[in-house]
Amino acid sequence: MEITRPTNLAAALEARADDPGADLLAGGTDLMVEVNFGYARPEHVIALRRIEEINRIENGRIGAGVTWARLEESPHRALAQLSRTVGSPQIRAAGTIGGNIGTASPAGDGLPWLAAANAEIEVASQARGTRRVPWSDFFTGVKRTSLEPDEVIVAAVVPDDVPENQEFAKIGQRSAMVISTVAACVMRDGNGSVRVALGSVAPTPVRAHQAEQLIAENPEPSEAVLEEFARTVAEEVSPITDHRSTEAYRRHAAGVLARRLLERCLAQ
Ligand SMILES: Cc1cc2nc3c(=O)[nH]c(=O)nc-3n(C[C@H](O)[C@H](O)[C@H](O)COP(=O)(O)OP(=O)(O)OC[C@H]3O[C@@H](n4cnc5c(N)ncnc54)[C@H](O)[C@@H]3O)c2cc1C
Repeated sequence: MEITRPTNLAAALEARADDPGADLLAGGTDLMVEVNFGYARPEHVIALRRIEEINRIENGRIGAGVTWARLEESPHRALAQLSRTVGSPQIRAAGTIGGNIGTASPAGDGLPWLAAANAEIEVASQARGTRRVPWSDFFTGVKRTSLEPDEVIVAAVVPDDVPENQEFAKIGQRSAMVISTVAACVMRDGNGSVRVALGSVAPTPVRAHQAEQLIAENPEPSEAVLEEFARTVAEEVSPITDHRSTEAYRRHAAGVLARRLLERCLAQ
């Protein structure tokens, strides 16, 4: 197996342009699982760890190479919350937000936060330079993205208007080291409008726009509105039954979790 270890982004993009079939490796906590199970047999790996440009957090840009361990200290409350739930300390020391985005698993815990934040994914290639893709155009299906074969994820770009009032939680089959059965992120801005994003309940992360609209019309929701909010969220998601859960449980849990997070935001 050939391993290329670029030390800057330009060299990584050149390596990617020369061999678009090569596998990019960040922390390896997803890719090496694929290798260990025999699902992936990389012939050429481009290791991204040494690229300083993608390891920075600056001006609303979170570099793709930033680990969950670092994001545990994020000033974005829900990002810090979710980072603390990813795997174990060892996984968080190696695993990166860029790898989470690159894998694009429906259960990727970073994705609901990116959706609620209205983040853009900054990608770059040698041939076309840099482009920014809204999260909703980037994630196209189960483990599918609009990343081109010659591109590298550079950063998640977070708009300035991300509400400080934000909460994340997930439900899984046990209380730690667990892949999400349902994950949710709720944000509430100063005007009382809310953003509701969910993971593990559709092929890609989703926003519950009708539930958001309900709270826009009822910024101080009564018990009846909160119940309707949970029901609306449950209706807006499109989960499946698999080895982790049933469609019905996921749907119900999505509503319960979103309502719980909304109530926490309302109490702040
Ligand atoms: C025991 C265990 C527990 C886990 N628990 C959780 C959990 O609780 N929540 C959760 O969300 N995930 C979890 N994961 C999955 C994994 O840790 C995360 O998805 C992590 O963020 C992956 O990051 P990485 O840097 O290790 O990615 P890698 O494995 O290095 O890469 C993952 C994919 O992204 C691509 N990629 C990486 N960087 C880039 C880039 N800059 N540009 C383009 N493509 C790129 C790679 O080519 C690969 O296809 C767990 C994994 C394990 C093994």
